[in-house]
Amino acid sequence: EIRVRIAPSPTGNFHVGTARNSLYNYIFARKNNGKFILRIDDTDMRRNSEESEKGIYEGLKWLGLDWDEGPDVGGPYGPYRQSERIEIYQKYIDYLIDKGDAYYCFCTEEELEMERKEQIAKKQPPKYSGKCRNLTMEEIDRKLKSGLKPTVRFKVPNKIISFNDGVRGELKWDGNLIGDFVIRKSDGLPTYNFATAIDDWKMKISHVLRSQEHIPNTFLQILILEALDAEIPQYVHLPLLLNEDRSKISKRDGALYIGEYKEMGYLKEAVLNFIALLGWNPGDGEEILSIEDMINKFSFDRINNSNVVFDFKKLEWFNGIYIRRKDIKELVDLSVPFLMETDYFKMNEENYKKLFSIMRVEQERIKRLDEVKEAFKMFFVEPSEYDINLIKENVKKIEVKDMVFLLEKTIEELKMEDNWHAEELEKRMRDFCDRIGTKTKILFMLLRIAETGSKVSPPLFDTFEIIGKDSTIRRLTNCKK
Ligand code: ATP
Ligand code: MG
Repeated sequence: EIRVRIAPSPTGNFHVGTARNSLYNYIFARKNNGKFILRIDDTDMRRNSEESEKGIYEGLKWLGLDWDEGPDVGGPYGPYRQSERIEIYQKYIDYLIDKGDAYYCFCTEEELEMERKEQIAKKQPPKYSGKCRNLTMEEIDRKLKSGLKPTVRFKVPNKIISFNDGVRGELKWDGNLIGDFVIRKSDGLPTYNFATAIDDWKMKISHVLRSQEHIPNTFLQILILEALDAEIPQYVHLPLLLNEDRSKISKRDGALYIGEYKEMGYLKEAVLNFIALLGWNPGDGEEILSIEDMINKFSFDRINNSNVVFDFKKLEWFNGIYIRRKDIKELVDLSVPFLMETDYFKMNEENYKKLFSIMRVEQERIKRLDEVKEAFKMFFVEPSEYDINLIKENVKKIEVKDMVFLLEKTIEELKMEDNWHAEELEKRMRDFCDRIGTKTKILFMLLRIAETGSKVSPPLFDTFEIIGKDSTIRRLTNCKK
């Protein structure tokens, strides 16, 4: 059975990097009728936060990446929070000590630091000397009784460690270059590598898809699994996502929380499509992909090797595409929370209905949902003043006094219109221009500014229709003054 997992630590923002890995794990599981597992790696007690853990659940839920096993939903291989599995790790640490594959180490920080300095002075790569490897039982007992708190180290064998990475092929490292590493800290908690190796084994994880910065860890985890005679999963190392300055996107440098993309007005479909292509492509040139497309097309051999810079412009482009594809009601409902943040919008039946007509003309124009706050304003709020320079610059070849006259005549004309719909209004205004010998271009620009206070707007007469007769007449009258 295909079983994959993500194991984020609740120590900061669940960011795009983690989200991209979650997506790949999810689609790989779905493609193979496998299981997608959420495990919370919360052994760093000092940095854990409840809010951060909540962010993981909410981020995944927003993206629709539902998990089959996890701390909240349970499952056959729980618990799924590492802090609740300490006894399990302890059992295997004891086992490795008994077997002679691990040992107590009483070296202090100062001693280790001295050792490192000496090695560097001799131009040797720093590596733990193995000083405590051969302590006698008596020495160990004496030190333990005197109250010293040892770490436990893993005895690294003298051999080449290798594995076949799903993206990069065979990778090797010489065990001789690796010092005996700590698997249990002096506070009794397992280290990251130990807990991860045990959990992947005990949770029967078949494939580990995570990013490349874990390759050095993978060698250590393999050593632990080999010592335990455990099944070794297939490792697949994914490229890293980089900030524009090519630094790694990282919790430690305050990467954006994935939920903030929602708050910025991105649609989850756009975010998913965008992150899917950060490190993988379907190979057929297709860029617009639904989750189903991704599930159908996903394969390891189309994952790229090199790291990817995160490009907001591209995300915006995807977002525009998905906004244009969305059904009006859904788009309106997604926009309401943004409008509620403004001081001009009140939720009631009439205003809600009005949003549908506005959205129909704005859908083509917005790239992010938060833009509705600005873009919808003119439909609810009449311009409080007019910028005479804006009018002079844009309504050319006509004197101000003629503009006033033109507005006056237009108002009279519009008052006669009982069928207040875009087409009727446009026809009436075109006829009117013919009759009085004015270019439509001139009049329509004047009307656009008078109606909206701005020289750009959705199609003019759609705007008139939505704003309505009373408000339109009032706006033109105010402008005339
Ligand atoms: P920290 O700074 O605390 O190490 P992090 O940002 O690296 O945090 P982790 O919790 O260590 O996040 O990693 C969670 C998952 O996200 C792992 O699978 C890791 O490989 C992946 N990951 C982390 N950063 C990136 C990145 N910049 N690009 C792609 N994947 C990433
Ligand atoms: Mg990390």
